[in-house]
Amino acid sequence: MIDLHLHTTASDGRSSPAALVDELAAAGLTVASVTDHDTTAGLAEVTARAAPRGIRVIPGIEITAVADAEDVHMLGYGFDVSHPALVTFLDTQRRDRRRRLEAMGERLAAVGAPVDMTAVLAGDGDGKALGRPRLAAALVAAGHVASIAEAFDRYLASGRPAFIARRGATPLEVVALVHAAGGIVSLAHPGKLTRDALIEPLAGAGLDALEVFHPDHDAGAVARYTARANALGLAKTGGSDYHGVASGRVNALGRVTVPREAYAALQARWPQVFSA
Ligand code: AMP
Ligand code: ZN
Ligand code: FE
Ligand code: FE
Repeated sequence: MIDLHLHTTASDGRSSPAALVDELAAAGLTVASVTDHDTTAGLAEVTARAAPRGIRVIPGIEITAVADAEDVHMLGYGFDVSHPALVTFLDTQRRDRRRRLEAMGERLAAVGAPVDMTAVLAGDGDGKALGRPRLAAALVAAGHVASIAEAFDRYLASGRPAFIARRGATPLEVVALVHAAGGIVSLAHPGKLTRDALIEPLAGAGLDALEVFHPDHDAGAVARYTARANALGLAKTGGSDYHGVASGRVNALGRVTVPREAYAALQARWPQVFSA
């Protein structure tokens, strides 16, 4: 079984790299890609621990780009993790993430829902990518809300009192950057975006694949994005978008995987990335 979309504690996943490898082995995964948000800090440990257990790990990342003020998640695979331009870019992304959380923390205090920012910012600087789920957890811990979902609904989602828009690279810049680092790019969970209109121009500008198989895609979405990918000559990727059992999400390991034929097509097209 193949899963090309996984998170660890290097970003907002709840499983450490070591724990994730145990879970992958238990679920029977044989090929896996760790795709943390804007960081590759979890990759080395996952790769080292997975190898002796017969799990092949493909270098991955989920980069947040911005188009018309909307976040656009883009998956990169098989790039050089020490490519200087990519390393610098990811560093900037993480600094922006920290600044945004600090500013959102100030907003929370201003609207009467102060949180412990020490906990929110813990681990920053060792390559961890901070995100709004940390503020959500802090709001729960402080007793301001009962759940992560309520934290987003009341304070953190777009349009809510503590929300601050992010700034960031365009999807096109991300495609160019990952290509420069020797990798390929798949547009993550297009069904979660409200802009299918992005797909065609991106395909024309070098996008390599669409993430067709994802827990948020129902059968209709899988069929729709399969047709789009085929029409535009894009490959198809997919995975569970696993964030750990403690994340409270239903994205269980093994529920959504990459079908054999889709993976064979990836291997045929980019053997250097997806070798057996
Ligand atoms: P950030 O990268 O800081 O913008 O945080 C975005 C992350 O927050 C997403 O990747 C999701 O994991 C999580 N998220 C966004 N909206 C919600 C929501 N309504 N409920 C729970 N988690 C959410
Ligand atoms: Zn996430
Ligand atoms: Fe995503
Ligand atoms: Fe993800």
